[in-house]
Amino acid sequence: MNSPRHVIETQDLSISYDTTEVIKGVSLNVHKGKISAIIGPSGCGKSTLLRSFNRMNDHIENVTQTGKIYISGQDITDGEVDPVLLRKTVGMVFQRPNPFMKSIYKNVTWGPKVNGLKFDPDTLVENCLRKAAVWDEVKDRLHKSALLLSGGQQQRLCIARAIAMNPEIILMDEPCSSLDPRATAKIEELLLELRNTYTIVIVTHNMHQASRVSDFTNFFYDGQLVESDETKKIFSNPREEKTGDYIAGRFG
Ligand code: ADP
Repeated sequence: MNSPRHVIETQDLSISYDTTEVIKGVSLNVHKGKISAIIGPSGCGKSTLLRSFNRMNDHIENVTQTGKIYISGQDITDGEVDPVLLRKTVGMVFQRPNPFMKSIYKNVTWGPKVNGLKFDPDTLVENCLRKAAVWDEVKDRLHKSALLLSGGQQQRLCIARAIAMNPEIILMDEPCSSLDPRATAKIEELLLELRNTYTIVIVTHNMHQASRVSDFTNFFYDGQLVESDETKKIFSNPREEKTGDYIAGRFG
């Protein structure tokens, strides 16, 4: 049964595209208030798994899924669960920054507004942009288009936009893959600040990033969870030979 320390729990989760199974009987726990990394070679199913945590795979026609996914104890595979409500609790940040074609200010207020939440917009905008470590860089141009920002600033704005919904969990799919090393370093610093307040699950192909920012690491190979443990253990003394080979760069 579910543990309160585990804000996400999957039980024997399998996901297929048409007849090809890409997630194979995965039982995984995500710890509350921690950063969990999902690593593994390209094509091993990382993004597919991440998307299942807020039912984003619902939008893909040829997907079928079996097994259970509990978010804070609630089975989200239950047909009664409203994915739109679920995504308020489980926010997502994508590979490429995708701000709306609106002002910086409206990017932050948009989600709470369309969801009918009560809020003071100026306070919300300042708080979220501060939490996302981008306030100082944008405070004098809040009403200018978000598309004028650099890639790294846009990605931190997207994190602010996710935070504005006051989620419990933030899913991040390779959030630095389109950013240069400086912008990446800023996002990594930010992740460490956001830890404790939010539970973060990050898919990354960058093992150094996983070792720098995450508390727990889950290593996947060919749709299976090979090893899941504290990051320092995975990177210093993995249990499975395959994990050791992967983190040593011997494949993938
Ligand atoms: P990763 O994030 O580890 O690179 P993905 O979850 O993106 O892996 O993909 C897992 C496998 O599923 C890959 O072989 C990929 O080609 C395949 N795949 C992903 N999306 C689809 C889709 N919509 N239809 C068919 N196959 C897909």
